Amino acid sequence: MTDAASRAAHLALIVGFHAACFAALATGVRGADLALCGALYLVQMFGVTAGYHRYFSHRSFKTSRAFQFVLALLAMTSGQRGVLWWAWHHRHHHRHSDTPQDLHSPRHMGFWRSHLLWWMAAENRRPDLAQVRDLARYPELRLLERFYATPALLTAAACYGLGGWGGFVVGFCWSTVLVWHATFAINSLAHLWGRQDHATGDDSRNNAVLAVLTLGEGWHNNHHRYPSSARQGMGRQLDLSWIALRVLSAVGLVWDLKRHPATATVPQRQPREVTR
Ligand SMILES: [Zn+2]
Ligand SMILES: [Zn+2]
Repeated sequence: MTDAASRAAHLALIVGFHAACFAALATGVRGADLALCGALYLVQMFGVTAGYHRYFSHRSFKTSRAFQFVLALLAMTSGQRGVLWWAWHHRHHHRHSDTPQDLHSPRHMGFWRSHLLWWMAAENRRPDLAQVRDLARYPELRLLERFYATPALLTAAACYGLGGWGGFVVGFCWSTVLVWHATFAINSLAHLWGRQDHATGDDSRNNAVLAVLTLGEGWHNNHHRYPSSARQGMGRQLDLSWIALRVLSAVGLVWDLKRHPATATVPQRQPREVTR
């Protein structure tokens, strides 16, 4: 496929999914469809944060080869391509954060390109496998990479089976598009909006609203400071993915969760001087 054809196909996919969300005007929105949407959002977002991001991109914990495959499948239900591609572009982001080489920096390319448009650029769609050799050595992950749409398509079919067209439109399309934008908001908004508690040399921010929407990823300035930590919240900052990983650790599915140093804290803000 040529670059232009690849860009056009991807644009059609993104526009098509957004348009499909409006088919709810025809299907209606039942409580069961909304429940399916909410449940799938949690599954997909957990796949993104614990799978694509904390495990495959940063190797911030260990697991078995079988559960590694499950994490890849969960992540890919969100339709964000294979784990090799995702880990490649994200590792690139950490190496070049907010420099001209960054694939999605609001500082250098504005909001919309850093949020969504970078995703469909043909030149950003071919992973440099040399950067993800640790993942590419697994044939099952390479196979998933090749058929990257399959987990999302099967999820869409399951939603249709559970709830008919309402299950597909509200359950699958709404959830998937919401997870896309929540994920992309970490690349765009989490480099624009929020507090910089650590001097990381980039524009990453800590943002409680984004942390709730993304199960903990909104503590992005903490993450740029301690990228290999499986925990992104600090102190009392809510990090639901970390809580879920602790549960999985307790039942033995994952282990060796890396953490930021025990001495690391969010710097306290100085109280404002009272001026009279
Ligand atoms: Zn970042
Ligand atoms: Zn990261």
